[in-house]
Amino acid sequence: MAELPYYIPVDEALNIVHSFPLPTRIEHVGLDHASGRVLATELKSNVNDPPFDNSSMDGFACSYDGQTVHDSYHVIGLVQAAKDEQTLDVKQGEAVRIMTGAPLPDGCNAIIPIEQTETIDETTVRFLNPPKTNFVRYKGENIKQGDVGLTKGTYLGPAQLGMCATMGYATVPVFERFRIGILSTGDELKPPGEPLAYGEIYESNSFGLASLVQWLGHESKRYPAVHDSKEALVGALDVAAAECDLILTSGGVSMGEFDHVRHVMEEQGDLKFWRVKIRPGSPPLFGFWKGTPIFGLPGNPVSSHVVFRMIVAPYVRSSLGSTQPIEQKARAKVRDIIKGTADCLTLRRVILKHTDEGYHAFQPKHQGSGNLDSLSAADGLTLLPPGHDPNIDEWIDVLVL
Ligand code: AMP
Ligand code: MG
Repeated sequence: MAELPYYIPVDEALNIVHSFPLPTRIEHVGLDHASGRVLATELKSNVNDPPFDNSSMDGFACSYDGQTVHDSYHVIGLVQAAKDEQTLDVKQGEAVRIMTGAPLPDGCNAIIPIEQTETIDETTVRFLNPPKTNFVRYKGENIKQGDVGLTKGTYLGPAQLGMCATMGYATVPVFERFRIGILSTGDELKPPGEPLAYGEIYESNSFGLASLVQWLGHESKRYPAVHDSKEALVGALDVAAAECDLILTSGGVSMGEFDHVRHVMEEQGDLKFWRVKIRPGSPPLFGFWKGTPIFGLPGNPVSSHVVFRMIVAPYVRSSLGSTQPIEQKARAKVRDIIKGTADCLTLRRVILKHTDEGYHAFQPKHQGSGNLDSLSAADGLTLLPPGHDPNIDEWIDVLVL
């Protein structure tokens, strides 16, 4: 048997998970339900947009030959958006009152905005400036019929949803959401709302992870926390594997005697790697349980969150050929002492302040991997490569949250 990749760089972990993409399914959904989904095919426009030359201003349309300017113009009619077609023959010295979005009358090539005109009487208007061939939106200038407006894998945010509608689609083919099961493990975990007994803490990871799953656009299924017993864990994993496309566990992957996730994966699972050079969050594992991919995330709340962002999210996105929703990388100037680590990609939680020269990064909070407050208060995560301790005023990469 090939040796299990152990304590590998983040890039190597990503290469491994990317070689096991989640199987996808396609469904057709109405635009009302397509926000945050990922397109399963490219979309070509059903129409020219705009479908006809039209005015981008309220004003007057006229024919301008590039030189002749009349003292005043005779107003021969009015065109409005989406009204019956009119056959107006507009000659030199004549103008048509036109509303935004109304089709440009034949022969016209210039729009004079209403603010740049003076009404003399009901049928006479004067232009305060010489006409220009401006403010015309030409047929197909946004997109031409048959052109690809959105590519496969596009994340449907507000602008992209608008494009679907503009191109004439009432429903769109999207990838089905993955159902992602979340199992936290640990005898000490109590659901919030119940009183804590000695030695107990509130279970928080499953809520944070469920929110991350939803942010990625998928369905989260939170299971009750599992006790630190092999039998309980195996039973819970069997249920989750049958019900979900992907399983996330938290806790139980370190060196402890009761870290059963690692033990049962070693004994009964199909393990692909264990431990990654990432701080916080070095203990994660990846593999399959009864054919279903599983990430064993660390128990510490900051660690599980960080590993989700750095490894789970890229895996889920790449399974759909999508890179979004976007997390922006930016440069930030270090303004507090921030420590890297010898061999890990180090993600410190920083507060970012925007300044004239760009972001400044501060680290006011205790950085323990159990200190969820440091994450909740943060705007960014440092992306310090292994062996890098930045100096004050040095510019570093950060992930903007
Ligand atoms: P473990 O990896 O199971 O040893 O957990 C590491 C630390 O994270 C311990 O202090 C746990 O109490 C804590 N922890 C584990 N799971 C959770 C959870 N679901 N919510 C909050 N804290 C947790
Ligand atoms: Mg534990």
